[in-house]
Amino acid sequence: MATAAAEQLRESFLTGKTRPAAWREAQLRGVLRMVTEMETAICDALHADLAKPRTESYVQEVKSSCKFALKNLKKWMKPQKVSAGVLTFPSTARIAAEPLGVVLVISAWNYPFLLSVDPVIGAIAAGNAVVLKPSEIASATSTLLAELLPRFVDGSFIKVVEGGVPETTALLEQKWDKIFYTGNGKVGRIVLSLAAKHLTPVVLELGGKCPVVVDSNVDAHVAAKRIAVGKWGCNNGQACVAPDFIITTNSFAPKLVESLEKVLLKFYGKDPLQSPDLSQIVNSNHFNRLSRLMDEEMVSDKVVFGGQRDELQLKISPTLLLDVPLDSAIMKEEIFGPLLPIITADKIHESFALINSMTKPLAAYLFTKDSTLQDQFENGISAGATIINDTSIHLTNLHLPFGGVGESGMGAYHGTFSFEAFSHKKAILARCFIGETKARYPPYTPEKLKIV
Ligand code: NAD
Repeated sequence: MATAAAEQLRESFLTGKTRPAAWREAQLRGVLRMVTEMETAICDALHADLAKPRTESYVQEVKSSCKFALKNLKKWMKPQKVSAGVLTFPSTARIAAEPLGVVLVISAWNYPFLLSVDPVIGAIAAGNAVVLKPSEIASATSTLLAELLPRFVDGSFIKVVEGGVPETTALLEQKWDKIFYTGNGKVGRIVLSLAAKHLTPVVLELGGKCPVVVDSNVDAHVAAKRIAVGKWGCNNGQACVAPDFIITTNSFAPKLVESLEKVLLKFYGKDPLQSPDLSQIVNSNHFNRLSRLMDEEMVSDKVVFGGQRDELQLKISPTLLLDVPLDSAIMKEEIFGPLLPIITADKIHESFALINSMTKPLAAYLFTKDSTLQDQFENGISAGATIINDTSIHLTNLHLPFGGVGESGMGAYHGTFSFEAFSHKKAILARCFIGETKARYPPYTPEKLKIV
């Protein structure tokens, strides 16, 4: 199956049909039509997989990506003229975006529609043939994608292959011109090593622990709302950019905890496990993993809010933990769920050393009114993205690259960056038959060397 898909797409790609703007535009319009006409089916599948509220389906974001690509495609495809250079005079020089060829997109379960279709939009816009392998863990969305995509786009160039580890491994063993993987770093390493066999370039969209630093000078209520929506309003914390832990000052912590509690009561009510606005935990493996983090001996008495669980419904309520030890598992692993530890420090600057002692996060958040601290944070913390006075919202801005650094990933996409991720920037230099420089050619006599 994997070999057949890869071989068939390579043959199709070599026909050159994916290169003209007209083919790319037709596919992008197909994706847009699919998302528009099948919105209810898509939201239903997301609900079946994750009890995801409709507002969290990110269907609008997929539409925006399509429209952005359609609007900018011709501009992106236009070769960019550059200076010809004295040594090559007379000549013309330009940079052209060339399709890479046949690419593989492997996506994750937490935003199973967005994380599948968004990279595919970039791959199509750049004129590639593409195999999409959605996550088997979000099985309803995977099945729906396999059924829908071929109905709305050219199936000879864009295919969906479903499956778990064996099927993904078989795909990874094929030769691709790019692999775009979203998921955890452990599998990211497998992807990278299999890609190395064929010298295939990769984009790795990984995760990590996204810190939120909260200074004492902020409006605690606004900060609490923005932290809460970025954490629990994004798939109940099961998002790569979800705040993973908070660092604040000893003096401000009680006010922040109080504000978070008020906000959470307002958002999800007194019985959050019954709230339709809170996604479930994806499966019992992840439910048990999160329970283990909460139940660790040195952590279990640190819960100051929430902590309710229902294994049958696979639901865990928004949970705040205060002053958990730094050597606990919850502070070592990416949480990827509704638990939010709060670490306190005497001075806000102590947060820098803690964050820099960890692996580089996908996003680092700072709440402060102090512009000097903002500058120090921006320059002193390496992260995929730095967001000041908000959380998670940066991924909706198509003018910004979305990607990690260090262990949170390599490469980026969204908007123009998606097109670039799936293109080769080819140097083109053209000369005519005049303008010979004798000094260029042997024999290199002393007279010629004087000219050089
Ligand atoms: P997952 O379990 O859905 O796995 C991702 C993909 O890898 C799936 O398609 C799966 O089939 C494949 N896979 C799993 N094991 C494999 C193996 N041994 N060999 C080959 N392929 C394999 O998703 P996940 O990894 O649990 O996703 C959560 C992680 O992804 C978190 O760390 C999160 O931060 C990260 N994430 C990052 C982004 C981003 O854009 N940077 C977005 C979402 C999630």
